[in-house]
Amino acid sequence: MTRKGLLFVLSGPSGAGKGTVCKALIETKFPMKVSVSVTTRAPRTGEQEGVNYFFRSVEQFQEMIAADELLEWAKVYDNFYGTPRSFVDEQLENGNDVLLEIDIQGAMQVKQRFPDGVFIFLIPPSQAELESRILGRGSETQESFNKRTSAARQELQKMREYDYVVVNDVIDEACRRIRCIIEAEHLQVKRNLHLVQSW
Ligand code: 5GP
Repeated sequence: MTRKGLLFVLSGPSGAGKGTVCKALIETKFPMKVSVSVTTRAPRTGEQEGVNYFFRSVEQFQEMIAADELLEWAKVYDNFYGTPRSFVDEQLENGNDVLLEIDIQGAMQVKQRFPDGVFIFLIPPSQAELESRILGRGSETQESFNKRTSAARQELQKMREYDYVVVNDVIDEACRRIRCIIEAEHLQVKRNLHLVQSW
């Protein structure tokens, strides 16, 4: 019998660098299946269908919600984002670990459905750094900057709902810490009872 994979959720406030860290993890031989989300936002330059996201219309997204095809979904600023359920279920069933890089609202929904999941909260090293990252995205107006920084401050309060917190100061260091978490989770006694049974 194949043992089920573990579900890891990487989440955190806007400006924490979730996307960058996730990309860095994937680029360095990451022993995990990374879920590709569905979104209603337009592709950015260089983004590819099925690689970065599945780009869908709002109507198509709503059909997916109605057909219960999404494990979780949320409206993040002005767009919808969601995790296709079938990919996650199949991979876990086949014994593969799965990583979701999603916002906090989505992470809280996943926690309801997968209480055994491993929830990692990524935070920027300081408020000043958070503000400069939000500004650094370039497309921010003063209004959207204020909206994002105040949302991020509120989101930081959700940290208690998570199992681990990783400060994203230097990307390689954040990746190393996440790999440590993954390894430690696999070494938990409750996940290794088969080792005792074979003695
Ligand atoms: P972006 O548009 O910059 O790629 O992502 C914006 C935000 O949406 C990020 O905080 C990202 O973590 C979040 N996000 C991406 N995919 C999903 C998803 O499937 N579900 C949820 N809830 N959030 C997502």
